[in-house]
Amino acid sequence: MVIDVHTHIDDEKTYQSYMRKAKGRVGLAFVMHYCKDDLRKTAKYVASKKNLRLLAGVDINAPEKIKIQLKTIESMFKKGEIVGVKLYPGYQYFSANDSRVWPVAELCLKYNKPLAFHSGDVSDSRALLRFANPLYVDDIAVRYPDLKIVICHFGFPFMYECASVVSKNKNVYADISGTIDAGASKKETKLLYLEYKKDLAKIMAYFPEIKKKIMFGTDYGGENVPLDEIELYIKLIKQIFPKENWANAFGGLAKKVFLE
Ligand SMILES: [Zn+2]
Repeated sequence: MVIDVHTHIDDEKTYQSYMRKAKGRVGLAFVMHYCKDDLRKTAKYVASKKNLRLLAGVDINAPEKIKIQLKTIESMFKKGEIVGVKLYPGYQYFSANDSRVWPVAELCLKYNKPLAFHSGDVSDSRALLRFANPLYVDDIAVRYPDLKIVICHFGFPFMYECASVVSKNKNVYADISGTIDAGASKKETKLLYLEYKKDLAKIMAYFPEIKKKIMFGTDYGGENVPLDEIELYIKLIKQIFPKENWANAFGGLAKKVFLE
């Protein structure tokens, strides 16, 4: 079964447009809850669809609410309502090696669920890129060697840092979502696709062992946002990996990382 490990399908309109574009090729999609949005509301929507699963965002900048957030997440883990937790370095002015991440990491570890980090490029000019560098994920990966960690968006444009951290740490994985911006002209999108493909292929020549640790994801956010691409990500997986890696990248690995 094909699993899209990174989407923002949190309402019916987005769901319908995603399903139309996916043309039955995606069996399960993971939804990233944004840490500032109402978690209950997103969870309720995701639970209404058989083919969606949720990752809960944590608002790290709300120290007064952190205990209650962790309590909520623990109860959601127990009930199987979430398959992981997502943090937003860059947007929230902290990096992955911040000690405020530790209690979140320990909770994920307790339930053997992954901790995903937004990494790289940001869509808000007020966010700070230096915090979003995936290099900082190395610290948390070393501190918690049994914690499953996912670097989102392959850290783009910090792709070499991402590859190096994934390669070095057995517990770190990455998704390829979010980089193919379909908001540009068709010509620009095509060029972007070709360069992204070339870069990923080149990086995997340097770090061949990471082939087994990369997952299919789109970052699909709806038809009115630049991130509305599915087709090209499917094509990308097929073009950058030899056939024997397809099943792993399209869902086999996601199953192990998020669902076991
Ligand atoms: Zn996203």
